[in-house]
Amino acid sequence: MIEFIIVGRGLAASVIAHALHQENISFKIIGNESLSNCSKVAAGIWNPIVFKRLTKSWLADEIIPYLNQFYSQVEKKVNKKLITQRALIKPFTEEQEKKLWQKKASLELSDFLDDTIYNADSTNLNNCKIINQYGIVKQSGNLDVNEFLKSTNSIFTESVIDEVFDYNELKINSDFVSYKNIKTKNIIFCEGYLVKNNPHFNWIKLKPAKGEVLTLVSSDLKLKNQILNRNGFLMDLDNDTFKLGATYEWDDLSEEPTQKGLVELQTKLQQLISCEYTIQSHQAGVRPSSSDRRPIIGPHPAHKNLFIFNGLGTKGVMLAPYFAKKFVNFYLKKETLHNDVMVNRFYSQYAQ
Ligand SMILES: Cc1cc2nc3c(=O)[nH]c(=O)nc-3n(C[C@H](O)[C@H](O)[C@H](O)COP(=O)(O)OP(=O)(O)OC[C@H]3O[C@@H](n4cnc5c(N)ncnc54)[C@H](O)[C@@H]3O)c2cc1C
Repeated sequence: MIEFIIVGRGLAASVIAHALHQENISFKIIGNESLSNCSKVAAGIWNPIVFKRLTKSWLADEIIPYLNQFYSQVEKKVNKKLITQRALIKPFTEEQEKKLWQKKASLELSDFLDDTIYNADSTNLNNCKIINQYGIVKQSGNLDVNEFLKSTNSIFTESVIDEVFDYNELKINSDFVSYKNIKTKNIIFCEGYLVKNNPHFNWIKLKPAKGEVLTLVSSDLKLKNQILNRNGFLMDLDNDTFKLGATYEWDDLSEEPTQKGLVELQTKLQQLISCEYTIQSHQAGVRPSSSDRRPIIGPHPAHKNLFIFNGLGTKGVMLAPYFAKKFVNFYLKKETLHNDVMVNRFYSQYAQ
């Protein structure tokens, strides 16, 4: 009997697979990549700063070092470059903003905010619309999520079953679970926003947010391992290509790119650059956001061998490694899970 079935093929399922593998816990991954685009379209950016109030992102001091350690270990395992450290450029729109930045860069945010104020005209940011000055967020970067998913698939290929999970085939016993001919001690569901189709966890109401992104081509932009952030982001990829994002939409939860999304993204771009470009692709996905913007992790209220790992929302790349490790410690060592992420905060919604 194996220890876990992991349901899903996105970021959450892949990170859980690595975290279990690190502890020599046996698993099978059952999932089909084509059901959700979310992880496949993500820019994979992590950013330790919340710009709205210029504060630190939740648990950034612990989460950022851990994500670097985690993805670097995976890079070594698969022998591929997956993460890029980047300078995140934040143009100042008013004097007040700059003053607050300077104050925080010298005090509580000194680990994450560069205390130098940069002049737009003295740097190499040709065709980026930065009116005056800007600051740089340190310890930011991005994961090549697609490459991470592909690499994960290839190293765990013998453990992957590529199919749509049929919930009717799941038989739950008190000390094991069976799915078709597989017997496992536990099952962990990582289906992103499609958890709505899971009869065992669909009582958790997510607040999914559709997002659209563009991939652009321009030979006139010189960003290099940077992210330009102003009411959206622009990030360099390879060969004069750039990723632009992202929109937020809560009513239309289809995975189709829309004309409305395109117009919104082009408007964002007009505020960011002043050169010609062509659009290479336009993609959409649905983020599995929770109502309180925290991950949702832990056991089913009635069946202790059914688990969920979901609710990664807009910050899956940052949150997944740290909380996958916490989940494994919860499972192996009975360590308590952070109250803010524990699924039991939704137990009152569960009707037996
Ligand atoms: C436009 C956009 C930009 C984003 N940018 C960023 C970013 O820069 N940084 C960041 O950290 N996050 C970003 N995100 C968010 C990030 O993508 C998510 O946090 C993360 O990918 C969620 O991963 P997941 O595995 O939980 O869900 P998903 O990616 O939805 O994965 C679920 C998986 O389960 C499979 N599945 C579901 N049901 C079944 C079933 N019944 N049978 C078989 N398989 C099933 C699906 O096909 C899929 O493979 C972005 C999201 C979008 C949409």
